[in-house]
Amino acid sequence: METVAARPTSKTSGGGFLIEQRAPDEVFFPEDFTEQHLLIAQTAEEFATKEIVPNIDAMERKEFAVSRELVRKAGELGLSGVDVPEQYGGMEMDKVTSAIIADRIAKYGGFSTTWGAHTCIGTLPIVYFGTEAQKKKYLPGLASGRTIGAYALSESSSGSDALNCRARATLSADGRHYLLNGEKMWITNAGFADLFIVFAKVNGEKFTGFIVERNFPGFAVGAEEHKMGIRGSSTCPLVLNDCQVPVENVLGEMGKGHHIAFCVLNVGRFKLGAGCVGAARNYIESATAYAKQRKAFGRVIADFGLVREKLANMAAGIFTGEAMAYRTVGMMDAAIAQLGESQSDMNQVRKVIDEYAIECSILKVWGSEFVDYVVDEMVQIYGGYGFVEEYPAERAYRDARINRIFEGTNEINRLVITGFLLKRAMSGQLPLMAAIRQLMDEVLSSGRDNGAEGLLAEERKLVATAKKIGLFAAGVAVQRYMQAIQDQQEIMGAIADMVIETYAMESAVLRAQKLAAGKGEAGAANAIAMSRVYMAGSLERIESAARMVIAAAAEGDMLRSQMAILRRLCKYEPFNTIALRDKIAQKVIETGKYQVS
Ligand SMILES: Cc1cc2nc3c(=O)[nH]c(=O)nc-3n(C[C@H](O)[C@H](O)[C@H](O)COP(=O)(O)OP(=O)(O)OC[C@H]3O[C@@H](n4cnc5c(N)ncnc54)[C@H](O)[C@@H]3O)c2cc1C
Repeated sequence: METVAARPTSKTSGGGFLIEQRAPDEVFFPEDFTEQHLLIAQTAEEFATKEIVPNIDAMERKEFAVSRELVRKAGELGLSGVDVPEQYGGMEMDKVTSAIIADRIAKYGGFSTTWGAHTCIGTLPIVYFGTEAQKKKYLPGLASGRTIGAYALSESSSGSDALNCRARATLSADGRHYLLNGEKMWITNAGFADLFIVFAKVNGEKFTGFIVERNFPGFAVGAEEHKMGIRGSSTCPLVLNDCQVPVENVLGEMGKGHHIAFCVLNVGRFKLGAGCVGAARNYIESATAYAKQRKAFGRVIADFGLVREKLANMAAGIFTGEAMAYRTVGMMDAAIAQLGESQSDMNQVRKVIDEYAIECSILKVWGSEFVDYVVDEMVQIYGGYGFVEEYPAERAYRDARINRIFEGTNEINRLVITGFLLKRAMSGQLPLMAAIRQLMDEVLSSGRDNGAEGLLAEERKLVATAKKIGLFAAGVAVQRYMQAIQDQQEIMGAIADMVIETYAMESAVLRAQKLAAGKGEAGAANAIAMSRVYMAGSLERIESAARMVIAAAAEGDMLRSQMAILRRLCKYEPFNTIALRDKIAQKVIETGKYQVS
């Protein structure tokens, strides 16, 4: 693997952030991008501005020859083969680079979806699970963008519950083909893709992946769906009617298709999160430009506090989202680097990515909900024009919505976050239960003192407090429900919310701390302000989720004493977020965009 010399970060276990303390130097942020990262960021950004944006109308009209050509051009620039090994025509870059490209290319949801499905879920199954012959045959075309990939897991009767698929595969009488029968639904790129990763159950039992070429006999693509958004992407059903797939096109182990399905979703999720942050960076520019020229009551609306507040929240979210996204991929790269010689073993790389499944789901949920907040406020800033097709907010609003549905709905991802944490805790991979027990003893005996000193000490104490609140509430729920907590979905969801917010606020604070260590507190004032604004909202959400969990899990005297502990944990002085937001907004308005410092 070509490492782009990411600054070393220490190896962390997935979900470990809940019980470990990280120093800023151990964590990777955009400020740590190397020259090569910056160069790739610039290439992707220029490609998006010069090639994607001028073609938006054509793609919205479903002129898919344009989309194909753009994927090919992205391939020429090395943007499509980032995760493909060099020996098969790819660039084999680190995961930071993967995230950078997903982030910078995200100037139009329709194409981001096309490109994401092609480079990620359409290509990676072969990278991680293909045989040597399959890799040699298919990867060079996919990496160059000459072959377009797609991924067909969902069916009309099973989306979230994808392993419950109805598509069947049976061996032909001569033993040379599998005959696939059934349908697939909502397949991105289906209208023009050449190659499909299709999942079906062999003999109705063994869930298995297959590499299916478009021209295989018995393969057909249905009509385009008429969608709410991302209209510039293709979404069609597939019909498999005795579709003949050569036996050598079975992907991975028979009956182990779920490994393929879930592994590539993790990469899809971190890229989706990074892409949502990139999209938000574009939307804040559009909203700010409009706010600076639209007049009401004799003033530009950018002068009004309630408009400035929206711009500041967007900026604080982008700062936080960048911190989370690059922290996550930085951890992956550090762990991949530790593989040493085995870095070229894609099976090992895949296992590293699996380790961070919790963080990938966090990024997916957080990113998709954040970008929805941004487009909603963008429509609001545009006022009546926000509701009109000719203006950019309307399409942005529609395009963003899908992110909460695909790559695992946000409900499913919330269940994944808490479910994986509990599984890791039960299996001893993550000493979460010991941390909860220690905390329970501690909160019963003492008050809140997290003992932080130095730069951003108060903020760091609050991060430690957030972790305690989350662990405390989770501990109360686990004590009450034990294993049956898995059936308490609202509690699982609320725990996931606390976990997500903790990761977000800690990432923002660590990034601000790292910036302050380099530039001094004055030099990092804007970053500190953004981390404080984000943190203030985060703490409120964590407290509210904790209250809900505790109220559901305890009653009577127990409830009263646990609420007293929660109140004690939640005692902190609030930041003056109105003043902080005003300063952040001023910077955005002056420069017309999101600024770190
Ligand atoms: C534009 C678009 C592109 C897509 N691209 C692809 C693609 O390329 N390849 C592919 O394979 N699929 C693709 N999909 C399908 C997508 O992944 C599914 O739509 C998604 O996984 C949800 O499945 P579903 O639609 O069947 O909803 P359902 O699973 O029926 O879910 C409906 C609702 O119930 C909730 N729900 C379901 N199960 C649970 C549970 N256990 N607990 C709590 N809540 C639950 C869901 O969160 C959701 O809110 C695409 C979909 C769209 C719309």
